[in-house]
Amino acid sequence: MEGYDLNQLKSQLVWRKNKIQEALSGHIVPMHLVNLLKEVDSALERIDNGTYGICVVCNDPIEQDRLLVDPLIKVCLDHLTNNQQKELEDDLVVANSIQKAMLPKNDQQLNGYEIYYHYDAAGVVSGDYCDIIDAGSSSDALYVVLGDVSGKGIAASMLMTHLRAMFQSLVPLGLSISHLMAKASRLLCESTSSTHYATLLIVKAEKNGSIEICNAGHCLPLYVNNYGIKKIESNGMPIGIFCESEYGLTSLNLDKNDMLILYSDGLTEATKKDEMFGTERLEAFAKDNSELSPKNFIDKLLVELKNFLGDIPRSDDLTLMVIKRK
Ligand SMILES: [Zn+2]
Repeated sequence: MEGYDLNQLKSQLVWRKNKIQEALSGHIVPMHLVNLLKEVDSALERIDNGTYGICVVCNDPIEQDRLLVDPLIKVCLDHLTNNQQKELEDDLVVANSIQKAMLPKNDQQLNGYEIYYHYDAAGVVSGDYCDIIDAGSSSDALYVVLGDVSGKGIAASMLMTHLRAMFQSLVPLGLSISHLMAKASRLLCESTSSTHYATLLIVKAEKNGSIEICNAGHCLPLYVNNYGIKKIESNGMPIGIFCESEYGLTSLNLDKNDMLILYSDGLTEATKKDEMFGTERLEAFAKDNSELSPKNFIDKLLVELKNFLGDIPRSDDLTLMVIKRK
């Protein structure tokens, strides 16, 4: 999340103000609307005098993702009242269970593939997107989508929900995955501000082992077969930055026991002191453990990550997925 557009925010607040004033024109004036109007006016005033987005208690900047969700807030997270703190915690618990309910089953045998994934938020909610979509009657292909949304916290998790809704409706259209990616980029660009973008990876897997991958700036997937390990190159920019983006795709063929390793930067950019986990460590691990089932591979990789980090907590959302041809 790289900021918010004050002009846009201001016109949104003026719109709210008009709506409240309309509601207040009736005979009975509800007190909470009068108070709400005061708050909107106070926010507009803060925009005009340049103090908007600054905590009234400590003068530190208020978290931007919170302002995008509620433009009326006046204090930073450290200065919420006990009641507000409790409400926020309750909201996060709800957001977390909504997000969990949207995840696919994490251990699946589908279309001749064995798929397992691990998905873990750094905070209460995650900005990583992970989905397995069956195209239904229109095709016998299986679609896997992995993404990482800009920013963190609630705003990122909302954008992630938006992406999921988009792909659930786009995939059944039967477009090529390059077109699918370009369309998703345009939709995201048109529906959100330019500070909202996502790296994204789409894998289309057919029953006969034929695989297509379209990668919009996401971490490079690894393709592991008898001959070794290959990084699959990216096919374009993250989605949502430019409305008119074009994407290529990579085709390959998985034989029995070949596998694809997909991950988010929460793995490779996990950092201890000045050292990152890195792709080389991942490649070495993959080379030594390619005979494992997807679940055992990921379980062992998580232990490797934990050993690497020691007692340093992870700071980014993490998604790992392995797709193995049976
Ligand atoms: Zn504060």
